[in-house]
Amino acid sequence: MIRAKITPKKFFPNNLIAWKSTLRSAEKSLDLDNRDMLDSSVAGDTKFAASKRGSFFQEAPRLGNQFSGDLFLQSYLKRVLPYEVLQEIFPDLQHFGHRVATDIYSMGRECELQPPKLEQFDAWGKRVDNIQTCQGWRQLHDVSAEEGLISIPYERKYGQWSRIYQAAKLFMFSPSSGLYSCPLAMTDGAAKSIELSNMTEKLSVLKDAYSHLTSRDPKKFWTSGQWMTERKGGSDVANGTETIAVPQDDDTYRLYGYKWFSSATDADMTLTLGRVQNPDGSTVPGTKGITMFYMQTHNEDGKLNNIEVQRLKNKLGTRQLPTAELLLHGSQAYKMSDEGRGVPCISDMLTITRFHNSIVAAGVMRRIMSLAQDYCLRRSVFGKLLVEHPLHMQTLAKIEVETRAAFLLSMEVARLLGKQDCNEASDVETQLLRLLTPITKLYTAKQAMQVTSEGLESFGGQGYIEDTGLPGLMRDAQVLWLFVSISLKKKMIPILLTC
Ligand SMILES: Cc1cc2nc3c(=O)[nH]c(=O)nc-3n(C[C@H](O)[C@H](O)[C@H](O)COP(=O)(O)OP(=O)(O)OC[C@H]3O[C@@H](n4cnc5c(N)ncnc54)[C@H](O)[C@@H]3O)c2cc1C
Repeated sequence: MIRAKITPKKFFPNNLIAWKSTLRSAEKSLDLDNRDMLDSSVAGDTKFAASKRGSFFQEAPRLGNQFSGDLFLQSYLKRVLPYEVLQEIFPDLQHFGHRVATDIYSMGRECELQPPKLEQFDAWGKRVDNIQTCQGWRQLHDVSAEEGLISIPYERKYGQWSRIYQAAKLFMFSPSSGLYSCPLAMTDGAAKSIELSNMTEKLSVLKDAYSHLTSRDPKKFWTSGQWMTERKGGSDVANGTETIAVPQDDDTYRLYGYKWFSSATDADMTLTLGRVQNPDGSTVPGTKGITMFYMQTHNEDGKLNNIEVQRLKNKLGTRQLPTAELLLHGSQAYKMSDEGRGVPCISDMLTITRFHNSIVAAGVMRRIMSLAQDYCLRRSVFGKLLVEHPLHMQTLAKIEVETRAAFLLSMEVARLLGKQDCNEASDVETQLLRLLTPITKLYTAKQAMQVTSEGLESFGGQGYIEDTGLPGLMRDAQVLWLFVSISLKKKMIPILLTC
């Protein structure tokens, strides 16, 4: 077979001619248009007068009460919770469902529009490393405390059902929260780690931190970071951790290292990993050399705890969230796990942050669905409303099923976690929680990307327009698969295949 050499001219000969003639006629018509405009403006009848812009304006999709409008959420709670518990928490959920569609939504939007900034030096050249956040971000801190978004499962007012109550609130909160859901996930993870740590009795700083993390008082409430990822590894922290912890005479440590991805850099405290330095200056390599540390981000004088913020990351999404590269140069820290037991100790924390990740994924799916469902009642194409087009509704139905599945799976993790919190989980339930948490995290994260992408399509061109607030949902969903370590993806696949 003889193959002709393909050149642009050979391949598109007609198109080139057509393209040139289109250009020529466009130039001509431009001349004509200019002439018309001159002529008509002289005549006092401009072609683009305000009266000729048209009278049709598409109604925007409306965000209603995210509790009373979500019958699936309500029916789940009715099915799972004892009657008295639901009766008691119902008014709060109803009220919160309204807030996430009104004032909390506005705070979240402000965070999207005014992302954090880093002021590294003051006017006189002094290093300050001040992360400036908008008012909405700071208000969300107070809202999180007042609404008990972290405290609910630790108060245990409703025993094992407290986690489901918290999960229902987080589910509604996260897509309105301007990514404040991220520091909350790490805060909850830190509270759980401290609760389970065998160092808590010994160290009053840990007890004190716990009372801040689980407080409902905005003035007392703290958030926590989790600074694990270093340049060499995020999923493989066992080999990636280069931070060195130098023991001090007073039982504290000084940390030296470079934390490559640190979200919620404006947090009050953090949990982090390092390798304790032996008297001869050596450290133990691999998993067995890793210890978990607790540290506060600021000293008592309000200055940073020997932390330099190198820069804020320029990210695809989650721009509301201050994610930074941090240099630790002698930061004071306390050992939180036994020496070399840092990796097993993180697993408690990861269970919580992965649970949050799944709830956030289910929440963003629900949000795009509830907006898409509202929009199909407002938008007409080809002479009828979208809701009257079977193919459109078939597409929405498909992603509604995915959304419900993600919700049920995530709530099952919440249910098991609630039992574990209260020491009421059987051995099987404990094992199931271990298995289900990373699978749910991975699966719902992948679903969230697909559902938000498909969901955006249902708004046509408007789904791509920033000031509708819609594209951010997809950008932010993109991060969910890699938050909180991704190596499990590879570890879980063989397990899933044998199920
Ligand atoms: C917006 C944002 C915020 C973040 N915030 C924080 C934070 O607050 N704290 C923090 O500690 N980290 C944070 N991270 C970092 C995040 O946790 C890591 O990026 C993530 O764990 C992946 O690590 P890595 O970047 O080193 O990628 P790598 O681990 O280098 O992964 C690269 C590739 O290798 C694959 N891979 C990984 N493990 C295996 C395996 N076992 N088998 C086969 N393939 C594998 C992965 O699937 C991936 O495709 C944040 C990241 C982002 C994007």
